[in-house]
Amino acid sequence: MSGSSAFVISNILPYLCGILALLLLWQYHQKQVLTGRIQSIDIFDRSGIRIYVFATPDDGQICKACWEANGMVYLPSQVANKDFVPRSGPCANSGRCTIVMAGMYGAWLEARNVVHRLRAAGRTGSLKLSAQELSELLKGNWEQSVSAATDRLAVLMLAALSGEKKNPEAAINAYRLAIREAKEVHDLPLVVPAYLRLAEVLVNMSRTDEALALVQEFEERYPREGRTRPYDPTETQRGLMAIKKSRLKTASVGRRA
Ligand SMILES: [Zn+2]
Repeated sequence: MSGSSAFVISNILPYLCGILALLLLWQYHQKQVLTGRIQSIDIFDRSGIRIYVFATPDDGQICKACWEANGMVYLPSQVANKDFVPRSGPCANSGRCTIVMAGMYGAWLEARNVVHRLRAAGRTGSLKLSAQELSELLKGNWEQSVSAATDRLAVLMLAALSGEKKNPEAAINAYRLAIREAKEVHDLPLVVPAYLRLAEVLVNMSRTDEALALVQEFEERYPREGRTRPYDPTETQRGLMAIKKSRLKTASVGRRA
């Protein structure tokens, strides 16, 4: 070995060692991520979603197990688990209860507090908001936050669920908005529940023709043929809409006779 190449090697050796150390560190990090010991911040950043909030309509029809899911908040890493369910026991109404899953970034004050509490909750990766806390979260100044565009449909949808009775017009608008504008992956879980709740509210307000048109639109959007996509309606949800349709048709015919 010539003197000059020995000189080069001794010069670059510290860098080589540095690169090797980084490689080992990266491998260690990957291993930790794979074994679930690190809830990699990358996972949140890539999806743009930091929390999943679950809520049910306040219509007195929800079973106990599903009602307990109202106000539950989970980390995305929890929701991503294959056997994740937001409630502790099975639905006593055979899946007829509506539970909405709303993904949010949550950049406004009240939401940031929830994100901090959730991350501090440790291994469970979940926490329960009281009705009051959920209401405060949704009444926060989200429209002025950097996540306004990302979180808009989720916030409006959650607010609609608890406000169906008090302000049905606002609920109708929010559900229509979710149906029309949910395009992002994190908003897609809102669409089927929005159809179900909108149909329910329209029926309760005796807006029969609108309700019937909505059920028909639902059936066209989710045909039974073809491959199933994530967040397609379940058989139970299709059945609920089919029952509504036949009742609405009878009511519509009765009105015209
Ligand atoms: Zn239930």
